[in-house]
Amino acid sequence: MRRNRNVKIVATLGPASSTPEQIKRLYETGVDVFRINMSHGDQNDAKARHTAVRQVEAEVGRPIAILADLQGPKLRIGVFAPNAEGAEEVELQNGQAFRMDLDPTPGGPTRVNLPHPEILSALKPGANLLVNDGKIRLRVTAATPEAADTVVETGGVISNRKGVNVPDVLLPLAALSSKDKSDLEFMCGLGVDWIGLSFVQRAGDVTEASELVVGRAAIMSKIEKPAAVTNIDEILEASDGIMVARGDLGVELPISSIPPIQKRLVRLSRNAGKPVVVATQMLESMIEAPTPTRAEVTDVANAIYEGADAVMLSAESAVGSFGPQAVETMDLVARSVENDANYRRIIDAARTPAEARVPDAITAAAREVAETLELKAICCFTHSGATVQRMARERPVVPIMAMTPFQTTARKLTIVWGAHCVVTEHLNRFKEAVWSSLEHAEAAEFADHGDRIAVVAGVPFNVAGTTNILRIAVIGEPRLATEGGD
Ligand code: PGA
Ligand code: MN
Repeated sequence: MRRNRNVKIVATLGPASSTPEQIKRLYETGVDVFRINMSHGDQNDAKARHTAVRQVEAEVGRPIAILADLQGPKLRIGVFAPNAEGAEEVELQNGQAFRMDLDPTPGGPTRVNLPHPEILSALKPGANLLVNDGKIRLRVTAATPEAADTVVETGGVISNRKGVNVPDVLLPLAALSSKDKSDLEFMCGLGVDWIGLSFVQRAGDVTEASELVVGRAAIMSKIEKPAAVTNIDEILEASDGIMVARGDLGVELPISSIPPIQKRLVRLSRNAGKPVVVATQMLESMIEAPTPTRAEVTDVANAIYEGADAVMLSAESAVGSFGPQAVETMDLVARSVENDANYRRIIDAARTPAEARVPDAITAAAREVAETLELKAICCFTHSGATVQRMARERPVVPIMAMTPFQTTARKLTIVWGAHCVVTEHLNRFKEAVWSSLEHAEAAEFADHGDRIAVVAGVPFNVAGTTNILRIAVIGEPRLATEGGD
């Protein structure tokens, strides 16, 4: 099965999408990558979802990526004693005093537990504490290592274990909590393709995670802290991909700063040849409605016009009643955008020159040749996935087929713009790679008898990091036994 678009769709799994049947339907509607959010559910739930995705993958016979998204050092308040109605919550009024402290006993109208001594120590008067997705804003008036006194700037109801964001402070937090480390090991043990890192603040956070992942998965840094935006160059360098995590980003920074940051991150990531996912609230109203708003459709479209590799669904597919409809909406919007001549102009205008390295020169040449000759596909052989990522960086008009004997590489690349991933048989010779390309291009309905394709590979064949050859081949051409020599 091939998709009729280049941008990819990531969907978060949850109670509304946990059975193999539900997951298969989402795949068939257009999902390329499934996200397992470790902030919700336990390791048993994650394992069941992992098993279900792998079962669907085996049934459909196409590689599918799993992104295990770690919760990260998310701060949470403690619990409240039941109020007069029996609810464990309080309503904060603007201007009232409210204290966050280390006392683990249930809170009430004037205080609650914040079980993070290192955060209390780092707070200064004037800092903002944002509770419950930023809905409630408290300003610190005095802070000691045991408690922070605040005044309520924006009130509302707060209840048990709501999240707290502290945007103004570079938090003295380890990149990975003990839960994150346990989840990382558990998910890498099951075999996942991407690990998502939440609340990354600096490149060191990424390298710390890499040392635990040790090559078992690619690393996607979620950009959702002001510090991550500031340190984006070195974070991007240390990561395999990034996510524009607009949910927390919009809490930590003024919400109006999201569009320019999104545009900047998408451009930087494409230039670096690393996949970038635009996430959160893309089709939020579809959690409860079968149709999106005009603004949401335009938001998805704009992310695609900007050149994102993938757009993501969160609650829409995890808990919403219309997950498949949300996927279908993204698929339709993607096709509409990608068929617009203006999309091509924007994508071409944003391309930066190839770097002076052989794989970059070859993939840039492959795009030009393929577009000039109107070839039907560019079949790109890869071990690690690097050559396909350089090919995708070119954003060619002609479809990219990512050819690899490694299932892990094929899965990882399913998130990359335009990559139609194929797990090939084990091939020894370049001529076999040409034959395999011709067969797969025809089988996947990219090309018909007499059509031409490009093959990008390395000779000697089967040696990683040798990409150096560009060959044009014709479907149905006679097999030349002597081709390439090797
Ligand atoms: P989350 O990350 O859904 O794990 O919070 C995405 C975001 O913050 O946008
Ligand atoms: Mn987040």
